Amino acid sequence: MAPTYDAIVIGGGHNGLVAAAYLARSGARTLVLEGRHKTGGAATTESPWPEAPEFSVTRLSYVMSLLPPTIINDLELAKHGYKIYPMGPYYQAFGEGGSIKLYADDAKRNYESVSKWSAKDADAMPKWDAWLAGLADVLGPLLLTVPPVLGSHKPKDLASTLRLAWRHRGLDIRTIADVTRLMTMSIADLLDDWFESPQVKGALAVNGVIGTWAGPYEPGTAYVMAHHSIGDVGDGHLGNWGFQEGGMGAVSSAIESAAREHGAEIRVNAPVARVLIEGRKAVGVVLANGDEIRAKVVVSTLHPKTAFLEQVGREHLPDDFVTDIEHWKSRSGVVKINLALAELPDFSADPGTQLQEHHTGSVEMAPTMEYIERAFLDARDGKPAVRPFSDGVIPTAFDKTLSPEGTHIMSLFTQWVPADWNEEPHTGELEAYADRMIDCYNELAPNFKSSILHRDIVGPYQMEHEYGLIGGNIFHGELSLEQLFHMRPAPGFADYRTPIAGLYYASSATHAGGGVCGIPGMQAAKAAITDKKASRRRIAGRR
Ligand SMILES: Cc1cc2nc3c(=O)[nH]c(=O)nc-3n(C[C@H](O)[C@H](O)[C@H](O)COP(=O)(O)OP(=O)(O)OC[C@H]3O[C@@H](n4cnc5c(N)ncnc54)[C@H](O)[C@@H]3O)c2cc1C
Repeated sequence: MAPTYDAIVIGGGHNGLVAAAYLARSGARTLVLEGRHKTGGAATTESPWPEAPEFSVTRLSYVMSLLPPTIINDLELAKHGYKIYPMGPYYQAFGEGGSIKLYADDAKRNYESVSKWSAKDADAMPKWDAWLAGLADVLGPLLLTVPPVLGSHKPKDLASTLRLAWRHRGLDIRTIADVTRLMTMSIADLLDDWFESPQVKGALAVNGVIGTWAGPYEPGTAYVMAHHSIGDVGDGHLGNWGFQEGGMGAVSSAIESAAREHGAEIRVNAPVARVLIEGRKAVGVVLANGDEIRAKVVVSTLHPKTAFLEQVGREHLPDDFVTDIEHWKSRSGVVKINLALAELPDFSADPGTQLQEHHTGSVEMAPTMEYIERAFLDARDGKPAVRPFSDGVIPTAFDKTLSPEGTHIMSLFTQWVPADWNEEPHTGELEAYADRMIDCYNELAPNFKSSILHRDIVGPYQMEHEYGLIGGNIFHGELSLEQLFHMRPAPGFADYRTPIAGLYYASSATHAGGGVCGIPGMQAAKAAITDKKASRRRIAGRR
């Protein structure tokens, strides 16, 4: 007899763990099956250098912001070790001299910093912040909204579409126009409307291209910037970007601990081969070793191509759904470079290796919009960027648990290499790419190269083969307009349900993903719990 659970969650990334915690909390006997030797998925802390186990890096994702207070409170994550250090300012030093700092919550210092480059931009900055905050107030709550099935004529679907429209009845013509601009414009065009100095525009463009297979001149990148700038999803203000103590793996561990406390069982080294389907219903899974485990509810958190095309199988799915998943775009050209440093970067613009404010936030390599665009154009032409763009952070400015006293960890989130580098390891070329990236920083901080004790390079091939991030996309699928909201992961199935009864879907490829936000995990668990209650009511009604 195959062992039986109420619910099986495939994948122990943070969304799988959130789903398991909510399911277990509802009383379901829940099992998480994780293929790797550890949980966390892309939210993981690891020690990549066997010769230096005293260093730990937050190997893929590196900063928190989007986890809503509801999840933090429901799962009592603080009790389980969730502890965030708010990040310092955005920092960019320039080859021609000088630097810029942007503060998330200090308008006076922002003004002083920006006015060094443009008085007009310094005046525009508070208006820009207010404009963005206004739009975030509209878009934020949508992240916690289950997308309606647009176009469906079923009364239930029409009702949820109308409810959504009613909720937005207060919007005026200008706000709708601004949302339309945000959803359709490039970040470059949007910033050109607001600012004049290349330094300010470069700084503000970064969030428009993070994890995206698109340069700053591509339509839709304005929305990507907004996705990273939302401060409130409707249930309280989200933190500004911050570092989890112990790295992003500690976020996963906190959620795992909450799930275990509610009774969830978590197995690692347990790769799932396929979902068991009988009579158009999911009834369990088959592990790669052939073992069968049964459950009434199965929640998958894997990339959609793996979850549906490989593990469910085309033969069980409607043709148009299969086509939608086949067409799912999942590129990004991201390379993560993790460094152990003997000392902090000594920037010529702001000298000193002692800890200073500019080490505590993002330490960027994105001096202008054109610089970022050039890096993308190189990759689109089939070559790795000659001068890559980087969103760098030094979490050890606060967190002393990751490296020995006096040393530091620096995490460089860099772009771009060609979109097809997920197909081959490109090991030598990645080493050369990392050398160039390091040289770029070294031009601004001449001690940088010599301060590097160890380096770890994770390219798209490793992201796909070791972490299941197909195509190397960091969000299980691009945040492009045709893959958002009711389209994520496929029209008609954005409510965390799937064409297979009993199979729910909770990966970052659903609405509100990507990012370490846990919303897909929570929503899929809630959908399963709601359906179970409804089915109980139906059965009771028949008696
Ligand atoms: C380089 C990089 C940087 C990023 N930076 C940030 C950031 O700073 N902030 C942020 O908010 N987000 C960031 N992200 C995005 C964020 O990390 C992801 O969107 C999120 O972690 C995905 O979570 P998930 O649970 O949906 O999927 P995953 O984390 O991918 O979890 C899926 C799990 O399933 C497991 N699995 C795969 N196949 C099988 C199988 N056959 N059987 C069983 N288990 C299987 C995997 O091992 C994995 O543990 C980054 C991502 C990357 C890659």
